[in-house]
Amino acid sequence: MADDCLFCKIIAGEIPSTKVYEDDTTYAFKDINPKAKVHVLIVPKQHCANAAELANSDPAELAHIVEIAQSIADKEFHGAYRLIFNTGKDAGQSVFHVHAHVLTGETMEE
Ligand code: AMP
Ligand code: ZN
Repeated sequence: MADDCLFCKIIAGEIPSTKVYEDDTTYAFKDINPKAKVHVLIVPKQHCANAAELANSDPAELAHIVEIAQSIADKEFHGAYRLIFNTGKDAGQSVFHVHAHVLTGETMEE
């Protein structure tokens, strides 16, 4: 666990969250400030800063995150979803523990 990482604390249960999915390597929970009818964050339990670092250190985990996103969208909205990895402060990343935003549950504007 990285010091002072919000998502490490959520994974450890030190900060409450609404769980959507969990397995040995990965945790998914509802975003506290949803930008779509269904807005879920998927995170690896192992701390890692961003998607490119995860692609380098554990590509299978990155693929696993995509599979989980697909299964959430299959359940919520006939398999349609938007998958976003904000990377870097100037692109809107505010938590430096890699997380996939899954936006689904409704028709999205372009
Ligand atoms: P990003 O801006 O891409 O780093 O995304 C961080 C996301 O975490 C934002 O969409 C926030 O709404 C969300 N967030 C921040 N704190 C919490 C929390 N305690 N529980 C759930 N989501 C959170
Ligand atoms: Zn972390």
